[in-house]
Amino acid sequence: SDLPPAFGALRLPRSVLFGRGQRHALGSAAGKLGKRALLCTDERQAAQPEFHAMVADLQAHGLEVRVFDRTIPDLPIGSINACVEEMRGFAPNLVVGIGGGSSMDMAKVVAVLLTHGGDIRSYYGEFAVPGPVMPLIAMPTTAGTGSEVTPVAVVSDDERGVKVGIASPHLIPLVAICDPELTATCPPALTACSGADALTHAVEAYTTLARPADPMLTQDHVFVGKNLLSDHFARLAVDNIFRFLERAYRDGSDMEAREGLMLAALAAGCAFGTAGTAAAHALQYPVGNLTHTAHGDGVATLLPYVMQFNRPFCAPAFAELARTVGLSDAAEEDMSQAFIDAVADLLGRVNIPPSLAALGLKADQQDFVAENALNAARLVKNNPRPLDLPAMQSITRAAFS
Ligand code: NAD
Repeated sequence: SDLPPAFGALRLPRSVLFGRGQRHALGSAAGKLGKRALLCTDERQAAQPEFHAMVADLQAHGLEVRVFDRTIPDLPIGSINACVEEMRGFAPNLVVGIGGGSSMDMAKVVAVLLTHGGDIRSYYGEFAVPGPVMPLIAMPTTAGTGSEVTPVAVVSDDERGVKVGIASPHLIPLVAICDPELTATCPPALTACSGADALTHAVEAYTTLARPADPMLTQDHVFVGKNLLSDHFARLAVDNIFRFLERAYRDGSDMEAREGLMLAALAAGCAFGTAGTAAAHALQYPVGNLTHTAHGDGVATLLPYVMQFNRPFCAPAFAELARTVGLSDAAEEDMSQAFIDAVADLLGRVNIPPSLAALGLKADQQDFVAENALNAARLVKNNPRPLDLPAMQSITRAAFS
């Protein structure tokens, strides 16, 4: 790489509020940004007493509020269009996403469509959002996706049978409000799969390719590549996930663990929002679509196999992560393998499916997965070890059983 050794770059929201009780800051933050707020959420979240308190808080700060509560996990295009149609007449000038990644991504894409018009399909990829969108506030209720700070939204294109990413700096929320208390209701399986999602973000961001610097962070480069600052956030995320994921999984009322995990998800979002992700994410897109399994389960099932494939190209980085999580027993040359084994072990302890077969993939779908994963060109290019069809097939086969 021709990066200077101490190059650092991050793109972040204007404000990030983190900590127990910070959800109560929503009204005052929103009151400064708009007058008509659209809240994107799902039915579960909209039924919480907490949610009614948030709506009341927004109204108390002078906002007119409309709620769209029919967000569906993984964000099928039909639900996006339903929201846009329903809210066009209301003409919001602020969009708030409250929920998991699906609700926050709904807020992002609806803000794009209500600001710039057009069809969601015309915004796929990295360069299509033409300019700023109306102000966005994101408030996660899972500790995983990091969408509250990332320039990404992921939608499910049912017609084409694939998940597709939309990436633009304009998708970064203006304000992220991260209140770990909102994750207290997550059942163990959701805690595990969202924490494992964050682990995958952090590991992939830590091992992507460093790119030539684009100091102005222009539209031409949504992801500026791994660097000093993204590495810092990735290590924080990995450390916290190793300390807190199993604890929160076993005892959902352990608020210290919930807080540590939400910080990890936020930090992993800061890391991959800058550095991007790679093969595990490219492969999850077709796997998720074929098996209808959660994004976090898919990327985490794939993660140890992708790491094993990448190991010859990033052993020093894995060894650093091994030291980050306190692995010190192995000889130096074995540290990278020790970290891969520790990742697989942690994922096993929180019951992430150990193989693509266990996720429900059929044997005759393996080649489709490998071929289709190559379509995620940005993620493929970002992988530390070059990827072609035989490489994708070998990862898929290893991960299958
Ligand atoms: P989700 O938003 O899809 O929700 C999954 C389920 O969890 C829903 O039924 C929801 O109601 C429930 N849930 C959410 N919060 C809860 C809580 N506090 N208590 C109990 N149940 C709760 O889940 P997710 O895993 O956060 O998001 C996944 C989506 O995010 C996928 O579409 C994925 O592709 C996307 N994603 C986006 C980014 C990004 O940067 N934009 C990154 C990673 C993943």
